[in-house]
Amino acid sequence: MKERILTGLRPTGNLHLGHYFGACQNYLKLQEEGNEFYLEIADVQALTDNFNNPEKVRKNVYEITTDLLSIGIDPNKVNFYIQSKIPEIAELTIFYSNLVTVSRLQRNPTVKTEISQKKELFGEKGESITYGFLGYPVSQAADITCFNGTKIPVGEDQLPLIEQCREIVRKFNSIYGDTLEEPTPILSETKRVKGLDGNEKMGKSLGNAIFLVDDSETVKKKIMSAKTDTNKIHKDDPANPDNCMVYYYHKLVNNEENCKRICENCKKGTIGCVDCKKELIEKMNELLEPIRTKKEYYNNHKEEVEKIINEGTNKAKEEAKVQMNKIKEAMKINY
Ligand code: SF4
Repeated sequence: MKERILTGLRPTGNLHLGHYFGACQNYLKLQEEGNEFYLEIADVQALTDNFNNPEKVRKNVYEITTDLLSIGIDPNKVNFYIQSKIPEIAELTIFYSNLVTVSRLQRNPTVKTEISQKKELFGEKGESITYGFLGYPVSQAADITCFNGTKIPVGEDQLPLIEQCREIVRKFNSIYGDTLEEPTPILSETKRVKGLDGNEKMGKSLGNAIFLVDDSETVKKKIMSAKTDTNKIHKDDPANPDNCMVYYYHKLVNNEENCKRICENCKKGTIGCVDCKKELIEKMNELLEPIRTKKEYYNNHKEEVEKIINEGTNKAKEEAKVQMNKIKEAMKINY
C-alpha cells in the first residue's frame, strides 16, 4: 500500500547543516520510494512564536522553499503547499481542541523544552505562554490528519508531537467512529547536528549554524572560529579530535580515509588546527557549491518557484476538502 508522507517546516530562516543532515536526508530518501509526499510550509505555525514579526515569516516562505528545491527536493515527487492557504487545517484545529486537555499540552516534553528556550517571549517560567503556542501540537495533528498522513518524518525531539497526534486520532475515532488514521513517525538517521560552539543543537537563534546558502567567505570565517580542543595551544601539541567541532564536521563532509588521517595526526600533534580547518573549509564548500548554484538559479526564476507553490497548494486544497467532508460527516456537522 502506498504511504502518504506528511511533513512540514516552519519558515523562520534558511536551512542549515542541522536540517540538511537530519530531516532533509530523510526527505531525499523518501521522495525516491514512490509514496505520496506532502510538504507543508508551516507559516501559521511559524507565527505562533513570530506573531510580532510577520515580515520574517513571509520572506522565509520563499527562502525555505528555494532552499529545499536547491538541495534536490523534486517538486514532481513532493507536493509543496502553504499552510495558511488551507483553511481546513485551522478548522480541524478547533475541532481537535475539544479532544485534548490543557494540562496534557503543558506536559508535552517538546512544548516544555520550546517554552524554556523562548523566555524572552513567554517569560521565565512560561507565565506569558500564548494559547496559540501551547496549542500548536493540536494544529500539527490537524496538519497531519487533514491529508491522511500515515508516515511522518521527524527528529527524535519531535516524537512527543506525533504521540500527541496519535492520542487525538484515537480519541476522535472512539467518539465519532473510525475515521482517521494513526500516523507513525519515521526517524532521521542522523538525529542532530551540533553547533560550531559545541552546543548539542545547531540553530539560527543560537548563532552557531552554517547555512546551506552561506557564501564561501562566510563558511571560512565560521569554520575558523569553530571550537577546537582547548588543550592544543601550539601547532604540534597532541590533541583529542573528539573534543573538536572541526573534526566533528570532517566526519560529516569528509571521506573515511581522510578522517582517519586527521584523527591520527591530531592525536600525534603532526597536524595544526589551521591546516585542519582549511581542509574542512574546502570539503564544506564542495558540498555547498552545487546548492548555492541551484539557489541562484531559483532566485533568477522566481516564477518557477511560484508555480510550484501554487500548483502544490491547489492540489492540497482539493485533498483537504475531501478529508474535511469525511470528518464533518463523522462529527454530524455536515449540514
Ligand atoms: Fe581539531 Fe584538527 Fe585541531 Fe585536532 S588538529 S584539535 S581535529 S582542528
